[in-house]
Amino acid sequence: MKIILRTISVILTLLGITLFGAEKKISVLLIDGQNNHNWRATSPVLKAGLEETNRFSVDISTSPQKGTNWDEWNPDFTKYDAVLSNYNGKLWPEKMQRNLEKYVSGGAGFVVVHAANNAFTNWKEFNRMIAVGGWGGRNEKHGPYIRWKYGKFILDNSKGRGGSHGPQHEFIVQTRNENHPITKGIPVKWKHCKDELYDSLRGPAENVTVLATAYSEKSKEHEPMIMTIDYGKGRVFHSPMGHGDYSMKCVGFLTYLTRGTEWAATGKVTFPAPDKFPTAEAILAHDPTK
Ligand code: ZN
Repeated sequence: MKIILRTISVILTLLGITLFGAEKKISVLLIDGQNNHNWRATSPVLKAGLEETNRFSVDISTSPQKGTNWDEWNPDFTKYDAVLSNYNGKLWPEKMQRNLEKYVSGGAGFVVVHAANNAFTNWKEFNRMIAVGGWGGRNEKHGPYIRWKYGKFILDNSKGRGGSHGPQHEFIVQTRNENHPITKGIPVKWKHCKDELYDSLRGPAENVTVLATAYSEKSKEHEPMIMTIDYGKGRVFHSPMGHGDYSMKCVGFLTYLTRGTEWAATGKVTFPAPDKFPTAEAILAHDPTK
């Protein structure tokens, strides 16, 4: 009898189901430790935002602090379904860079929020993963801008810096592709909590699908806010939103974080659209850490 039970348990586990009926959680490794933003305030929101759904378990790898051996930092990505970067700082050790490339191109998920897209200007494969990034000396040599013109996205190779933003404010996010599993069923226009609206990001922009944009008064362009990128067999979810913890404590941001991370990790989205969602007129804040 014991052997039969154990056999059933093994089969169920292989199917991603436990004997308690709960689905196997999606494991995520959050990377932080350096950022020109307050990562100590934002990482807990990212972790709690995913974990409050009961679909994710999140571990954190924080970069070695001063006085420790930097080159020993080499988290085992292969133990996770997806890696989430909240990191903008010193270039990762060589081994860790190659491991991320192998991990994502081999079929895993990678998620990038806000200033994580400022990192690693000259790490070529990282920039192919995120499609576009900002600052760090990025310019036309690093790739085109993605521009919304005449009802479609085009690549704009004109000269200029990559990365800019105006003062923080609430802004409307507009879906441009309603048929993707990440956007399906979510209101097409919704107001995002106070945030920096990144504009004029640029990069390789290969294999990228822009799912939603926001209009920037600064650039006078509809800027990509939610993107997916195919990188080898892997999937990348990239949102330039999320400047402060208050920007992330938004039902719109958190909904896209969970749906985007699930998609990056599994290729599917099982979350239904939430009952309550920001409208085009009003933000809807939610603090998952409370
Ligand atoms: Zn910022």
